[in-house]
Amino acid sequence: MTSLPSTLRHVAIVGGGAAGTLAAIILSKLPGIGRLTLLDRDGRFGRGLAYSAPEKWHRINVPAIKMGGVDAEDSEAFVDWLAARGDVTGPEYSDSFVPRWTYGDFLCDQLAKIDATGRLEQRTATAVAVARSGDRYRIELASGDAIESDMAVLCIGNQPPSPFPGIEPSARSIDNVWTSGALDAIAPDDRVLVIGTGATAVDIVIDLMHRGIRKEVTMLSRRGLLPRVDVATVADPDPVEIWPIRTVRGLLHSLREDIRRKQAAGLPWQTSIDTFRLQTAGFWQGLSTGEQARFSRHLRAYWLSHRHRLAPDVATSLEQWQSDGRLSVVAGNIVSAVATPTGHDARLRRRGGSEQHLATNWILNCTGPEERYDRIGDPLIGSLLAGGQARRGALGLGLDVDPNCRLRDAAGYAHQGLYAVGPATRGAFWEVTAASNIRKQLLGVADYLRSTNQIS
Ligand SMILES: Cc1cc2nc3c(=O)[nH]c(=O)nc-3n(C[C@H](O)[C@H](O)[C@H](O)COP(=O)(O)OP(=O)(O)OC[C@H]3O[C@@H](n4cnc5c(N)ncnc54)[C@H](O)[C@@H]3O)c2cc1C
Repeated sequence: MTSLPSTLRHVAIVGGGAAGTLAAIILSKLPGIGRLTLLDRDGRFGRGLAYSAPEKWHRINVPAIKMGGVDAEDSEAFVDWLAARGDVTGPEYSDSFVPRWTYGDFLCDQLAKIDATGRLEQRTATAVAVARSGDRYRIELASGDAIESDMAVLCIGNQPPSPFPGIEPSARSIDNVWTSGALDAIAPDDRVLVIGTGATAVDIVIDLMHRGIRKEVTMLSRRGLLPRVDVATVADPDPVEIWPIRTVRGLLHSLREDIRRKQAAGLPWQTSIDTFRLQTAGFWQGLSTGEQARFSRHLRAYWLSHRHRLAPDVATSLEQWQSDGRLSVVAGNIVSAVATPTGHDARLRRRGGSEQHLATNWILNCTGPEERYDRIGDPLIGSLLAGGQARRGALGLGLDVDPNCRLRDAAGYAHQGLYAVGPATRGAFWEVTAASNIRKQLLGVADYLRSTNQIS
């Protein structure tokens, strides 16, 4: 290996999922960056939580083309890579919702190219603290070791869900359904209550059906909204302008108007949503805290069900299971769930007021990752907040960052060389879960580094 000039910067990235991997790939292309260290506590480099899912029915929730590539201009890179590998996405639109591990394979392939240059170290380790050390950042590891770098990027991703309120703890109530083997003890004749009706809940219901579950599965969420069905992409001929809108009411009005206009012109409503999706960060940042809270309270569930959509064949399966009596979707909440020797006696209150008793063998919390960082016991997040290196984001969501993803300390000042990207920045950007959004954030960081001459 040739030694690198000492002026080149060393970047440490905490988290080796899709965000950390994209960070390594994008930053490695900047001329002033020499070494990169990628840390992941689970050793799931290139995959993280979403793209290490092992089954072929764990599929990406958008057509492959929308996963894009790595750079701004290579929007077909993932599809081209699939084709080159022989995994051609079929002629059917729904065939292009490929298994999630294929996207993990794609990222691992890109990572391997940097690895081959000798500039990248992938290290299975848990970061427990990050602190300023002169002009550098010192990352302390659970092992007792430490790493010093010129720049650090936190890509700590999806946090496990918190226990769901009202449920008496028991081995038959599973809070983190993504833990390896979490569903293995569920027998085909068990009754299962799935809390949540979003993307995670749908994934788990499909898993249960493939495991041969025979009893009716119940899905429960406050509004009982399943994700809507996706359609083939249509270019938006007349994008709605969201930027002047500063209220939730204004947004609803504009979106409804736009959808009416588009539908009258024969375009699907999904076109309006996909256009707005590209503007969500700017829209969120333009809202007052009160309007952000109003959005979270009233519109979030509707937005998510329109934004995260289902592959057409998945939507058909869900409909079929509902009409066969294998699946029911309830709008309501849990009043109580008392542990019994065989599961829980749950009392549900349906939207509208009526009550339902459900003797269930399993309760699966599928409400998705915990977003409120005041409820998270993670040592790294705890030490950043306690030491004043970071503060929570708007509405307690994630960690606060400036528009260039630089972490803000307790007083609100942005660190020079400490960044956060991905779901941890939800308070500032709100919608930063999809791979496409995360890539956009990272390209913004790269532009910022270039424009401020921090690299040359
Ligand atoms: C089940 C599921 C399915 C999804 N499907 C899609 C999809 O189809 N398309 C799409 O665009 N998006 C999808 N998403 C959104 C997804 O969140 C992003 O696409 C992306 O995977 C987020 O990557 P990440 O690296 O930020 O997070 P993660 O995948 O959560 O990775 C974070 C990594 O950081 C590591 N880590 C955390 N803390 C530390 C620490 N202190 N020290 C060391 N390592 C640490 C973790 O071990 C983990 O491996 C899905 C999300 C989920 C949960």
